[in-house]
This record gives sequence, structure tokens and C-alpha cells, in this order.
Amino acid sequence: MDFELKEEHRMLKDLVRRFVEDELLPLEPEVLRRDMEGKGVGLTAEERAKVNARARELGLWGLDAPAEFGGHDLPLEAMVGVAEEIGRCIINYAIPPDSPNLHMLMGVATPEQTTRYVEPYARGDITAAIAISEPGAGADPSGMVTRAVRDGDSWVLNGRKIWIGRVAEADFTILMAVTNKEKGARGGISAFLVDRGTPGFNVLRQIPMIGGRFTYEIAIENLRLPASALLGREGEGFAPMQKRLSVRRLQMGAWCIGMADRALAMMCEHANNRVTFGERLADRQAIQWWVADAAMKIHASRLMVYDAAWKWDQGREIRTELSMIKVFVPEMATEVVDKAMQTLGAMGMTKELPLHAMASMLRWIRVGEGPSEVHRWVVARSLLGRGKRAA
Ligand SMILES: Cc1cc2nc3c(=O)[nH]c(=O)nc-3n(C[C@H](O)[C@H](O)[C@H](O)COP(=O)(O)OP(=O)(O)OC[C@H]3O[C@@H](n4cnc5c(N)ncnc54)[C@H](O)[C@@H]3O)c2cc1C
Repeated sequence: MDFELKEEHRMLKDLVRRFVEDELLPLEPEVLRRDMEGKGVGLTAEERAKVNARARELGLWGLDAPAEFGGHDLPLEAMVGVAEEIGRCIINYAIPPDSPNLHMLMGVATPEQTTRYVEPYARGDITAAIAISEPGAGADPSGMVTRAVRDGDSWVLNGRKIWIGRVAEADFTILMAVTNKEKGARGGISAFLVDRGTPGFNVLRQIPMIGGRFTYEIAIENLRLPASALLGREGEGFAPMQKRLSVRRLQMGAWCIGMADRALAMMCEHANNRVTFGERLADRQAIQWWVADAAMKIHASRLMVYDAAWKWDQGREIRTELSMIKVFVPEMATEVVDKAMQTLGAMGMTKELPLHAMASMLRWIRVGEGPSEVHRWVVARSLLGRGKRAA
């Protein structure tokens, strides 16, 4: 049994940490200032180009993309270390290409789709969004009603999607729709590839979210797509979509560890320096317990994330582990960030420090990619369903 990252993966993690410290953290104060103006926590095109250029120089590009497309083919075991370091900074940035859609596409794309979408995506030349959620179906995507009906050599789609990230700027979107109402999630939901600007794929509005994010609402009105836009087999879109969600859930767990670890470091630094009533905060048992609890829970979370990544790389089923992570780690990080805010007093309440942005991001992470209640349900069902006692 080995609970450490492999040496080469640890070296990669260290490199990403330096990249975050040198390239992203210096931009954070300006990003936080822009967020106060309602502009979100993204980078400007100019900043992104500069950061991307540096990432490329350092070889931090296409990390889990296939070698045939210029990537490094790294396993998730390596990628969770990368995500942990990226999670330290509140800026909305992913080293291209963003992993989850890549994993979904790679499993099912046809040779033509590989040339047109997967290869440029894997090379970080184009970006993608995924549209699953609808006004009437979020936590339970099997309830989606957006319909795709075959019409000769084409598909005609109608429906509505909401809370979709990046869709206005993404080069293409993976759009989930019902192709067989009776079968639903068991053979009746398919995935389609839609290029930005395709007539009938109408971005209605941008929705400002907490944590400096934006999502969009989309109306799909007689969207006509060629047969070649079907991603994977008809009716079999749900399983690759779950694979995509799994990769994001693991990544979110790692981001949360990065955030919690940074908040703990801020808490320790402040507690060592601030004196109240003649004593350092670090000498107060209340604060010591917050520090100890945070360190223990971060350690436990890291083991959970490494364990799941390792099992994934072995090809093992990790649905229950992922649900445990999706509940435990964001709730752990929420608590740690909250304690750090309390330790810093009024400073912890400012919008100039990243803690409030972390708290907001952690708040939406507890809903996005499946709310905590649904993941608790998955964990409980996996135990109760096997006739085991939950204790
Ligand atoms: C910042 C952000 C970005 C997002 N990006 C995308 C995106 O790019 N693409 C996309 O398709 N979607 C995206 N989403 C949508 C996200 O996946 C959904 O919001 C999420 O799955 C929950 O769906 P819902 O909002 O409809 O909540 P609902 O399904 O209405 O659930 C509401 C609440 O009910 C409770 N609940 C639901 N089911 C159960 C249950 N079985 N047991 C107990 N309690 C339950 C939970 O507390 C839950 O929070 C994003 C969301 C956010 C916040």
C-alpha cells in the first residue's frame, strides 16, 4: 500500500504550485477587484493568453490528453495533484484542455469527430461546454425533456437548458437530449455536438452566480443537426456523461483541498501574529482546535481523493467513493474556510482577501455536479442496497 503520489507526479504538483504562485496569484488581487464590479473571477483575454503561454513553456499543457495529440497521457492520479494546486487560487482557470469533456469525448467520438473536435480540444486550441441541466431537471438529469427527433439524415432538437457554464464562448457544446421518451436514462438519452452559432441554438441570457461565475440559459428551437453530430450511440449518452461528471467531481474534490489548505495556512499565519488580550491567537485553545481539526480533515480528504483517483486508473468502479468525496470534501473545506474567516476577524470579511471568494465557490460546489443530498443518497443506497448496515 502506498499513500503518496509517485515521485514524478509529486514533481508535477510542485511545478504547478510554482506556476500558480508565479503566474496566477499575482493576478488575484486585480481579479478580486473586478469581481467586486460584477465582472466575475475569470481572466481577460490578454491575461489568459499570457498565462497560457507560460503554461505551455513549462510543459503544463495537454496533461491528460493522448500522446498522439501532443499530450502527456497522465493518469488521474497525477491530475488530482494538479487540480489541488490550481484550487489554491480563486481565479477560474484550467490548464488546457479542461479534463472532464475530454474524457467524455475520447470514449465515444467517431474518427471524423475525433479529427474535428477531439484533436483540437485535446491540443487546447478549442473549448467546450456541456448542456445537461434544464429548468425542470437538474439533480435528476433523467427527467430532462429536451427532445431530439430523427428527420431523414438529420436530427431536429427542441427544448431548454439552464445553468450552463461557458456556453456563450465555447467553440462547441455537448448537448444532451431525449431520443426515446419511454426508455429515458436507460437507453433513451443521447449526446450531440453543436458548434457555437448554429441556428436554433440560442443563448438567451447570462446568469451571474455566486463565486464570480456565470452560467447561461439556452433555448433550443428547431435546431437541425446532421446525423454525424450524434456523439456515441443513439440512446447511450448517459454513461459517457456520467464518466464526464465523475472526472469533474474528483477534480472538484482536489480543488476543495487546495482551497482548504490555503485557508489553513492563512489561519496559522494570522494566529501566530495577532495578539488579543495579551496573548497570541495561536495560544488560544479555540483556535488550536480549529487548526487541528482542519489539518486532520484535509489529510482525510486528500487520502479519499488519492484513493479514488488510483482506483479509477485501475479501471475500478468508484461511484460510491466519488459521492463520498462530493459530500465530504466541499463540506470540510466550507468549514475550514469559515474558521479561517473567523480567525482573521474583520480582515476575514473583506473582499480584498480570497477567503470570501472561496466560501462562495464552495457554496456552489455543494450544488453543482449533483447536490450533497443526492450524493449522500447514492452512498446510502450502495450500502443499504447490498443489505449491509450503514454503521
Ligand atoms: C455554478 C454552476 C455551474 C453549473 N454548470 C453547469 C453546466 O455547465 N452544465 C449543466 O448541465 N449544468 C450545470 N449546472 C447545474 C447543476 O448541475 C445543477 O444545478 C445541479 O445538478 C442541481 O440541479 P437543480 O439546480 O435543478 O436543483 P434541483 O434538482 O431542483 O434540487 C434542488 C435541491 O433539492 C434537494 N434534492 C434534490 N434531489 C434530492 C434527493 N433525491 N434527496 C434529497 N434532496 C434532494 C437538494 O438539496 C438540491 O440542492 C451548474 C450549476 C452551478 C451552480
